[in-house]
Amino acid sequence: MASLSKSYKQQKIEGTFDAIIIGSGMGGIATGAFLAKEGKKVLVLERHYTPGGFTHVFKRNKYEWDVGVHYVGDVHREHTELHKMFNYITGGKMKWEEMGSPYDVMYFGDDRYDFVAGTEEFKAKIKSYFPGEEKAIDEYVELIYATQKNQRWFFAEKLLPNWISALFGNLLRKSGLKGNKTTLEVLEGLTKNKKLIAVLTGQYGDYGLPPAQSSFLMHAALIKHYMKGACYPVGGAQQIYETVAPTILNAGGEVFTNAEVKEILIKNGKAIGVKMYDGKDFFAPVVISDAGIYTTYKHLLPEQQKKELQTEKLFENIQPSVGHVCLYIGINESNETLKLGKSNYWIFPDNYDHDKNIADYVNNPDAELPVVYISFPSSKDPDWDNRYAGKTTIEIVTLSPYAWYEKWKDKRWMKRGEDYNAFKEKLAQRLLEALYKRHPELRGKIDYYELSTPLSTAHFANYEYGEIYGIDHTTKRFEQKFLKARTPVKNLYLTGQDIVSCGIGGALFSGLITASAVSGKNLLNRLK
Ligand SMILES: Cc1cc2nc3c(=O)[nH]c(=O)nc-3n(C[C@H](O)[C@H](O)[C@H](O)COP(=O)(O)OP(=O)(O)OC[C@H]3O[C@@H](n4cnc5c(N)ncnc54)[C@H](O)[C@@H]3O)c2cc1C
Repeated sequence: MASLSKSYKQQKIEGTFDAIIIGSGMGGIATGAFLAKEGKKVLVLERHYTPGGFTHVFKRNKYEWDVGVHYVGDVHREHTELHKMFNYITGGKMKWEEMGSPYDVMYFGDDRYDFVAGTEEFKAKIKSYFPGEEKAIDEYVELIYATQKNQRWFFAEKLLPNWISALFGNLLRKSGLKGNKTTLEVLEGLTKNKKLIAVLTGQYGDYGLPPAQSSFLMHAALIKHYMKGACYPVGGAQQIYETVAPTILNAGGEVFTNAEVKEILIKNGKAIGVKMYDGKDFFAPVVISDAGIYTTYKHLLPEQQKKELQTEKLFENIQPSVGHVCLYIGINESNETLKLGKSNYWIFPDNYDHDKNIADYVNNPDAELPVVYISFPSSKDPDWDNRYAGKTTIEIVTLSPYAWYEKWKDKRWMKRGEDYNAFKEKLAQRLLEALYKRHPELRGKIDYYELSTPLSTAHFANYEYGEIYGIDHTTKRFEQKFLKARTPVKNLYLTGQDIVSCGIGGALFSGLITASAVSGKNLLNRLK
C-alpha cells in the first residue's frame, strides 16, 4: 500500500499537475484514473491517513474490516458498464467473487425471504411467498427495468456541456425523471399487500430511506443493480484502491494522504488550486471535489462564491442522509469451522412497516431496531485465508441518527467519555443479540468487537452529520440540477456519490461523468 500513496506529513508535493482532486473515495480515484487514461497528471489529496474513502479497510487486533463495501452488483457481468468501467481503469486487475444465491436473506420476525440471483429466479421465488400476487410481481419487475432504462437520459444530461444542457437538458431530465415518485406510492399502485411491499423494499438500507421517503428512481436502480446477483472484492475492499491507483500513478499522478484541503482557491471567478490546512497552496488548471456537496459548498468554497451560488438556497431541497453504527466483530476461528455462509441478513420487526419502525426508533432509541444488517465478509472473500487464516469477521450495521451523538461531537476520538461508551455498549449488545438469535452457536466465541458511530463517519470521512450515503435519495434530490459535474465556478468540478447516487456503482459512474466533463469527451465511448 505504501508505494501507492505518499503521506503529506512526510513528503513534499512537487511538480505540476493537470488537475487537483480533493478526496480519494471511489468517485475521486475513478475520476483521476479516467483522466489518467486521457494522459492527464492528477494530484489526489486525501485527508485520512488511509486512501480510498469508503473503500478503505481498517485493521485492529489482528483482524481487518471493510467500512463501506459489503456487496456490489453487475460487476461480474461482462457486458455491463460497471464491469467495463472497472476493467478500463484497473487494466482488468480488479477481481470479484460472486456470492451465489441467496445473496440477501430477509427476516421479518421469524418469516424468512430469500433474494436470489436472476430475474426469472427472483420473480419465481417472490411469487412462491405471495401466491395471488403474480401479476403485481411481474409488473413490478417490468417497472424496475423500464425505470432504469429511462434513467439513462437523466445521467446523459449530466454529461453534456452547459450550453447543450441549456438547450436540451430539460427534455432529457423530464424523460429520465419519469418514475420520480416515492417508492411507496409506486408500489401501492401495484399491490395492496403490505407484506409484499415490505419484502420488496427490504433492501432500503442500501440507500438509507424507507419506502414513503425514498425516490422510486433510487429504489429501481438498486433493485436492478442486484437483480443478477452480487459480488465481493477478491482480497477485500482495499483492492479497489490498490487496482485503480496504479493507473493514476503510471500517468505521472500522485496520491497524498494526511493532506486535508482547507479551501478551494478562486481567482477572477475561476478555480485555480487549493489551500491546505498547513497554509500551503497548490495550483492546477482544474479542481475536482469528491468531498461531497455539503463539505465542498459549505466548507471549501470561499465566502464570495458561497454568496454568488446561493448555496443556502440550493440546500433547501436536499438533506443529509441518516447516520449509522457498525459493529465490527472478530472471532478466533476459521470460516471453515463456523460455516456462516456468504448471504447478508436483513432483520426487521415482524410488523412489516419500515416507515413506522424508523419513525418509532428515531423518536426513541430503545424502540425495536428498525433494521439490522449482518454481513460475513471473511466468508465472501476467497483470498481471506491467505491473509487471516483461522479467523472470521462479521459486520453488523443499523441506522442511527446523528442527533443522538451530537452532544459528544467536540470530544476527541477514543476519549468521548464514559456516557458515550455506555451508550455504544448498549447498542453493541443489542446488535450482538440479533446475531445470536440467528447464530446461537456464536455466543461466547466473540474475540473482539468495536462499534463505530456517526461521529466516526464524521471524524474519518468528513461527513459533517455522519451521513452514511451523502445526501438523501428523496424525490426532491433527483430534481436538483446543480448536482452535476460542472459547477457555476469555472474549472471547478464535482464528483462522487452526491452527483449520481450512493454505492460503489454510483460513485464509479460519477468518475466517468466528471472526467468526461473535464476532458470534453464522452468517455463512455472508451468502454469496450
Ligand atoms: C456502512 C456503509 C456500507 C456500504 N455498503 C455498500 C455496499 O455494500 N455496496 C456499495 O456499492 N456501496 C456501499 N456503500 C456506499 C459506498 O461505499 C459509497 O457510496 C461510495 O464509496 C462513496 O464514494 P465517494 O467517492 O462518493 O465518497 P467517499 O468514499 O466518502 O470519499 C470522499 C473522500 O473525500 C475525503 N475528503 C473529504 N474532505 C476532504 C478534504 N477537505 N480534503 C481532502 N480530502 C477530503 C474523505 O476523507 C473521503 O476519503 C456503503 C457505505 C457505508 C457508509
